[in-house]
Amino acid sequence: MIDKLCIIGIGLIGGSLARALRDAGTVREIIGYGRSVGNLQQAVELGVIDRAEVSLPDAVRGAGMIVLAVPVGNMADILNTLAPVLPDNAVVTDVGSVKGSVIAAARAALGARFTHFVAGHPIAGTEQSGVAASLPDLFQRRRVILTPEAETDSDALARVRAMWEAAGAQVAMLTAVDHDRILAVSSHLPHMLAYCLMDMVVRHDDYRAILENSGGGFSDTTRIAASDPVMWRDICLANRDALLDALRQYHADLGAFVEAVEKGDAKWLCETFTRAKHARDSVN
Ligand code: NAD
Repeated sequence: MIDKLCIIGIGLIGGSLARALRDAGTVREIIGYGRSVGNLQQAVELGVIDRAEVSLPDAVRGAGMIVLAVPVGNMADILNTLAPVLPDNAVVTDVGSVKGSVIAAARAALGARFTHFVAGHPIAGTEQSGVAASLPDLFQRRRVILTPEAETDSDALARVRAMWEAAGAQVAMLTAVDHDRILAVSSHLPHMLAYCLMDMVVRHDDYRAILENSGGGFSDTTRIAASDPVMWRDICLANRDALLDALRQYHADLGAFVEAVEKGDAKWLCETFTRAKHARDSVN
């Protein structure tokens, strides 16, 4: 049971975690901290949080668990403001989509209290943002990756694991380096491809006709291009090196497709499509 939970950033992920833990009956009081009074008010009206605070020291006072659920680019500022007012015995965790940069910011900001910071990332979400889009079952049977460091306190890790399990998630562990390398391919690259395709189409002379004549393939492939631009700008910048590796590999592979189509290389095309189809058929 968490006595007092403070969630910093009550949007899709922060709001969904609050709803999931409330439904599970594992938290007595949820305090939401944010910058926008309107958004916080909405979170109270929706019953997502018990109380809203626009002062960080007031929000975290007495909290045993503090969850950072703001865009990755805002984590360092929040951690720096949090460090001097961090309550004794509080565990701090985050939900950011990139782990290396958030861990570096936490290590720099929290000093000796870094032992009680547990980095995390729920592999769940939608292309929508904001507390109104939050869902109590968003994390049900979804994976949450925790990336503890050598210094991470084992009790703090256990408390964060228990929180996510209460929210319905399945917890897995990775190093931060492995997380950022793997997520660059499984999540960050697909978002770049969706943004790139949608942006190519919107600048096309036949934009309207393309949309009117598009079907499930186009909408499936571009759905995530509706994701929040600020969140994705931050993810790109924070996971620069791993994302560049993935983008360069994809760019080279796409070049091979261009060459095969130019040459009319039916054998290469069919072999490549077959290999990809078999791989796709074997997942889900
Ligand atoms: P969101 O835009 O729905 O919510 C973010 C909230 O943080 C907003 O309410 C915003 O007002 C608030 N906020 C921003 N800066 C702040 C600041 N300095 N101080 C206080 N509040 C601030 O975004 P989201 O989708 O919930 O994403 C939140 C985090 O979760 C990000 O780090 C993202 O990388 C991660 N994440 C997102 C998804 C997804 O699919 N959306 C999945 C996994 C992890």
